[in-house]
Formats: sequence, structure tokens, C-alpha cells
Amino acid sequence: MTYMVNQLDNLMKNNTNEPEFLQAATEVLQSLEPVIARHAQYRKSGILERLTEPDRQIKFRVSWIDDQGKIRINRGYRVQFNNAIGPYKGGLRFHPTVNFSIIKFLGFEQIFKNSLTGLPIGGGKGGSDFDPKGKSDREIMTFCQSFMTELHRHIGADTDVPAGDIGVGGREIGYLFGQYKRLCNQHTGALTGKSLSYGGSLVRKESTGFGLLYLLDAMLKANNKSIDGKIFVLSGSGNVAIYACQKAQEMGGKVVTMSDSSGWIYDSDGIHLEVIKEIKEVKQQRLSEYISYRPNAVYHEGKGIWSTPCDIALPCATQNELQLDDAKELVKNGVIAVAEGANMPTSLEATHYFQANHILFAPGKASNAGGVAVSALEMAQNSIRYSWEFNKTDLKLKKIMNDIFEKISESAKEYGVPGNYVDGANIAGFLKVADAMMAQGLF
Ligand code: NDP
Repeated sequence: MTYMVNQLDNLMKNNTNEPEFLQAATEVLQSLEPVIARHAQYRKSGILERLTEPDRQIKFRVSWIDDQGKIRINRGYRVQFNNAIGPYKGGLRFHPTVNFSIIKFLGFEQIFKNSLTGLPIGGGKGGSDFDPKGKSDREIMTFCQSFMTELHRHIGADTDVPAGDIGVGGREIGYLFGQYKRLCNQHTGALTGKSLSYGGSLVRKESTGFGLLYLLDAMLKANNKSIDGKIFVLSGSGNVAIYACQKAQEMGGKVVTMSDSSGWIYDSDGIHLEVIKEIKEVKQQRLSEYISYRPNAVYHEGKGIWSTPCDIALPCATQNELQLDDAKELVKNGVIAVAEGANMPTSLEATHYFQANHILFAPGKASNAGGVAVSALEMAQNSIRYSWEFNKTDLKLKKIMNDIFEKISESAKEYGVPGNYVDGANIAGFLKVADAMMAQGLF
């Protein structure tokens, strides 16, 4: 049995009930085959064995009281995966589907993504199976306070710095930070995604969506194509989707769809983003409300968004939302590029189908790295107790995304898979972490 087959085999045996983690780890290990073949020292030092096992997994009870006075119990999680290049860094997800498989896949991806940013941040992720939908402000606050009462002992500005993710936006970060500060008596950058009034960074809200378009732009330019005039099919209607839509429109694209977990909208005139912001950011309503503002648009219940003809697809909702059949439909309808805004939104089979059909494909760990990059810039600003202007931060973001594209493109070439940005991202992200692990001795 070859070394890599053995690695994959052990991974399966040791993580049997964790399909999402296995999916993420399998993709990375497969990409690393030529790297391991070229650098015997990584094999000798057990880098892959160590990298696929988190440094630490924390699970805790979160008790809180709902508006009816009933005691409710949820599970809290934090996976501290790898801190070879900096403090653990990665968001918190509040969604009923959260379990160790989801948090481990996200934490594992985060190691490579954070490495690609070029900034000193390690990989981690956390969250809870708590569902914020339909909860009152008071319930959200009480939950966040109880969650942080346990989490605070595991995090800190130089240890582990959580941020937002699905279900955790500015409001939740505010309640979490308030409780952290109360418990630790410290106003430090132990969380990112904070509001501007108490240590947040300009551009953080926009960063993942904007960064996605900056990387897409770099990928298209390198392949003699451009964003201008292209039709976009974009999924999701949360933080990433909204600012991806904004930047796509600013760069001359036309976005015709958005979705939430109930259904999707199609607006042939192009999505009216002010309406989306009003529905999602101000009123926190369902996306179906869009047609009451824009009667010419169409609302479809359930799935089917990827059957819309387009030039560019941006999956920005959640993992595995784009399956093989969706990929076939997109290719049949003439898609030229896919860039992942969400984490692992494309199944392995769908990814391979795009690559086999020469569709430009940007993997999430490169294309959505803008969020964590500006989070790291927020940490830097907190450390020096200063805040940078919007344009300065946006320029830094743009440079980071261009650099990421360069790195993944060069690594793909160097290891014999030019244009395969999935392998390029896994290899470039891995090399820095592996070298840092080698330098620091066995841990
Ligand atoms: P939000 O909670 O702001 O929005 C999530 C969006 O996805 C909503 O439209 C939501 O619909 C939809 N969605 C969530 N779960 C499902 C599901 N099971 N099926 C269909 N639709 C679903 O999250 P973000 O925009 O922050 O995150 C979106 C993705 O981007 C995630 O994969 C996240 O990990 C990734 N990401 C986020 C970053 C960030 O900075 N925020 C950084 C890097 C990656 P509904 O409202 O109905 O639930």
C-alpha cells in the first residue's frame, strides 16, 4: 500500500462518522501526493498524520432560558486544529446542523486558507447547534452569554480568535464580546467581526464577498477573460452573498439570482441589492419577500438555482449545495467559471466534473479567504489600538487576494497541474504550515 493510500485509509478508520471532514481531508491529501513524493522530510516527520488530527477538540453544554421561562440546552464546540503559524483563527457557526464533523471540516480548511493569506494565523473553528432563526433579541443575548461563559477560558487575542460564520453576525459578536470582556476584564482583540464603535475594522463586513470578486477577477484575467458584462448566478443571501453581489455589480457583472434555505429568486433585470439589504439586513425577513418589492422577479420554492443559464456561478450559501447534476447543468448552459464563496459548497464529484470540462474553478479556501484576511487585519489594528481607513484596508484586501491567486497558480504549475487551482491552493497552503511545523519540533 502506498503511503498516501495508507493515510487515506487511516483517515477513514479514525473518523468514520464525519463525512464532511473526510470529504475536506480527502481532497487535500489527494492534492498533496506530488508534494510528499518530492519532500521525504514531511513523510518522515509525520506531518500529514499530525495535520489531520486537531490539536484540541472542545465540546460543552450551553444552558439558557427562553422567553417562556423554559430551560434550553445546546451543544457548544471549538476545534483548535493547528497553530503552527499563528493563534487559532476561524469563525463560530450557529446552525442546527452543527456537529464535530462540520466543525472539523471547517477548521481543517481554515488551516490552509489562513496560510494562503500570508498572515500569521492558525486554523480553528467553532459553533453550536443553536438555531438563531425566530429567536428574540433577548434569547440570542442570553444564549451568547452562556456560550461565552464556557468558551472564554479557551480563547484570547494571542491564543484563539473566533469570528462570525453562518448564523453569527454583528449582533451575536457584540453579545459574545460583551460577555468575554465582562469575564476577563480585558478589551482585547479576542474576537473579530466587531462593530466599528468598539474595535471592528472597516471592510470586514464586505471582505469575504469583495475578496471573492477580487480573486475571480485575477483568475479571469490570467485566462484572458473579464467580469464585465457577464451573467452571474449567485446563491445565498447572507453576509458573503450580499457583498459578492455588490462587488460583481460594481465590476460590471449582472447578478440574476440569490437564495436562502427556503428557495431562490430570479430577477432578469439584475438583483436590486437595496431591496435585498432591506429584507435581510434591516428586516431579517425571508427572501421570498423580494417579489413584493420587485413584482417582475420570480420566486422558486426549494432547489434548482443552478439550472439558470449563466457565465459565472458563485455558490455562497453552505457546504455541498452544488452537486454533480448541478455541475452538469451549469456546464451544459455554458458556464465559464465557478468561484466558491461558501466553504466546500461544491461536492468532490462536481468539482472534478468542472475541472474535466476545463471550467475555471476557484476553491473556497482561496477565493473566500478575504474574510479571515481582514479579520487578521482587525487583530493587527486592535494590537496597535488604531483603525485604518476604508480604502487602505480595501487595497490591502485586494493585494492579498491577488497574491493568493499568484501563489495557487504558481504552485499548480510547479507541481505539474497548471490551471488546477484546487491542487494549487492545497499545496501552497500546506507548504508554509508544514515548514513551520518542521521548524518547531514535534508537537
Ligand atoms: P449567513 O448566515 O450570513 O448566510 C448564510 C446564507 O446561506 C443564508 O442565505 C442562508 O439561508 C443560506 N443557507 C444556510 N444554510 C443553508 C442550507 N443548509 N441550505 C441552503 N441555504 C442555506 O452566512 P455567511 O454568508 O457568513 O456564510 C455563507 C458561507 O460562506 C458559509 O459556508 C461560510 O462558512 C462561508 N464563509 C463565510 C465567511 C464570512 O466572513 N462570513 C468567510 C468565509 C467563508 P437562511 O437564511 O434561510 O438560513
